[in-house]
Amino acid sequence: MKKVSLLGATGSIGQQTLDVIRDHSTELELVAMSVGDNLEKTREIISQFHPKVVSVKTKEACERLKAEYTGDIRFVHGEEGLIEVAIHQDSSVLLNAVVGSVGLKPTLKAIEAKKTIALANKETLVTAGHLVMEAVDEHNVDILPVDSEHSAIFQCLQGEKAKNVEKIILTASGGSFRDKTRDELKGVTVKQALNHPNWSMGAKITIDSATMMNKGLEVIEAHWLFNVPYDKIDVLLHKESIIHSLVEFHDSSVIAQLGTPDMRVPIQYALTYPDRFKRQQSAKLNLAEIGLLHFNQVDFKRYRSLDLAFTAGKIGGTMPTVLNAANEVAVASFLNGSISFLRIDELVEEALEYHTAIMQPNLETIEQVDQETRIYVTNLVKEYLTKL
Ligand code: NDP
Ligand code: MG
Repeated sequence: MKKVSLLGATGSIGQQTLDVIRDHSTELELVAMSVGDNLEKTREIISQFHPKVVSVKTKEACERLKAEYTGDIRFVHGEEGLIEVAIHQDSSVLLNAVVGSVGLKPTLKAIEAKKTIALANKETLVTAGHLVMEAVDEHNVDILPVDSEHSAIFQCLQGEKAKNVEKIILTASGGSFRDKTRDELKGVTVKQALNHPNWSMGAKITIDSATMMNKGLEVIEAHWLFNVPYDKIDVLLHKESIIHSLVEFHDSSVIAQLGTPDMRVPIQYALTYPDRFKRQQSAKLNLAEIGLLHFNQVDFKRYRSLDLAFTAGKIGGTMPTVLNAANEVAVASFLNGSISFLRIDELVEEALEYHTAIMQPNLETIEQVDQETRIYVTNLVKEYLTKL
């Protein structure tokens, strides 16, 4: 029985992780979990999975749940709560599916506690990839990608030597606005942006997919996970999301991983690697029925966020931290109606221009730069609102 700690249990990846645990309840068990604000879903999960520790975002929510449950569940909260879940003594694997750089410290602590890391929370690798990968090496733990593209690359690389890799090619669906020009994006609404053609995901990543920042974050994630330089990472538009990514080797051979768009498949692979359990609940790929797959070059002028991510990644140091923090604030501001869609990548660009990179930052510097960037971008949003 593999025992799992799950961060972000009430989210899109969290819920699909629980599906996988439910589908394989004789092999997988949930021992500890964190949630944010959604107490209704939390109660449902508790009644079905009986975790030993539950972490919630606020002290108030924690007190409420403590008053409701008389059993032996331990309720904790805040950052300390996330860490307690991440390093629970009974679990061997942490599946990190919180959204945002709030996932960084729990991941580092879980690595120190020698847990296997199944990582969905890409912001962690974007904001502090060097620290995470150093800790992975130092403590000799596995870090297994949950993100479908990275799971694909990980699978394509099985049994291959890193020195033989010519290129890593990440596929991108293009998000909810893939058929619109930049000009046509001027008046788009939150509702339109949240309507992703292929995947049903949390709000932040759905907006990131529409701006293509998601692919930018994934480029940086791939750089750290697979130790490849940025000039060996390409992005290819592929609207069907059937080929999840590809690896080209020196001999011009290309290996790809395919499947229907269903996050439960890479989630399960990260939890059961190197085993592959049956997935009766996921649709099989029928290529004859699909018939055609399409591929296109990415236009970096159209998808400015992707360009910014490559630039920030190549400069390195604290630049990706700024990219991520600015993007988190900008996306939240778009979602709450404060800014327009096209303002998102402008704000990220302004934050990157304002910042002078600090190379080889430690955790303290990263946390400081993350906070300063959030304040800087929040103020830009406020200035913009007062001008209206
Ligand atoms: P969701 O928004 O659906 O879920 C996020 C989860 O994190 C929820 O459980 C939420 O709690 C919790 N949470 C949010 N903020 C905080 C906080 N400050 N402290 C503690 N908990 C918090 O996101 P997704 O599941 O879509 O994405 C999760 C991660 O996985 C992201 O990094 C994303 O980029 C990545 N990912 C997602 C994919 C997808 O298909 N969804 C695909 C590949 C990667 P609550 O809802 O209770 O408030
Ligand atoms: Mg992805």
